[in-house]
Amino acid sequence: GAPARATKPGIPNIDKIVAVASGKGGVGKSTTAVNLALGFRDLGLKVGILDADIYGPSMPRLLSLTDRKPESAGGRLLKPLEAYGIKVMSIGLLVSEETAMVWRGPMVVSALNQMMREVEWGHLDILVVDMPPGTGDAQLTMAQQVPLAGAVIVSTPQDLSLIDARRGITMFRKVDVPILGIVENMSYFIAPDTGTRYEIFGHGGAEAEAAKQDVPFLGAMPLDMHIRVRSDEGVPIVQAEPDGPHAELYRDMAARAL
Ligand code: ADP
Repeated sequence: GAPARATKPGIPNIDKIVAVASGKGGVGKSTTAVNLALGFRDLGLKVGILDADIYGPSMPRLLSLTDRKPESAGGRLLKPLEAYGIKVMSIGLLVSEETAMVWRGPMVVSALNQMMREVEWGHLDILVVDMPPGTGDAQLTMAQQVPLAGAVIVSTPQDLSLIDARRGITMFRKVDVPILGIVENMSYFIAPDTGTRYEIFGHGGAEAEAAKQDVPFLGAMPLDMHIRVRSDEGVPIVQAEPDGPHAELYRDMAARAL
């Protein structure tokens, strides 16, 4: 048949499109996506973030953009929003949650294509795409049709999450999208009062899985209330606490993913 590339022409102004994906919801995919994007920014790159999570777009909330609407840039073109030096477009800014939830793969891809091609991004070194969780029809179609340079897989150390992460790796491999690496989120917890380290969901599972699958391990992020609180405040931790330990971990991950 026709070469796969024919169905996914690149986007002239965008050097690299990177998907952040997870096998299931709730593992911290969006948290990782937004903080990695800020990590890329800190490395001196021009960054955009495209929120394609049709089941629960979280970028407007994470980036304090909930009451903002993208403006027209003339014709069909839209201007992206901007937060903390990053350009942002979210499915949540374009259609209602109820609408997006019931979309099948081809509709997700056409919305994505619109967000990639009909948004005045300007030149970007990297566009981070927050994917919908899972490995269903919508995700497979996206992985196939969007010109992805690679995918970052987010997982907790827990077996069940890892099984889903493995499915994600298999899905991207099937459509020749390189796996840039695995992030182990909620890897450990350090009690703030005693400094004792707890491995709530186990520890090291994602690193072992990365080795087994022969893909890079990008790093482990602790379960830490600051990460959650900063997200809820709409100022992700890399932005809120740039000199803190988490920002450094996210920047390290970003550097490894490049
Ligand atoms: P997903 O995108 O996989 O559904 P989210 O990024 O929305 O997951 O995270 C789910 C919840 O867990 C959010 O409330 C988020 O703030 C929180 N969270 C994610 N990662 C961490 C972490 N490392 N430490 C503490 N809370 C986290």
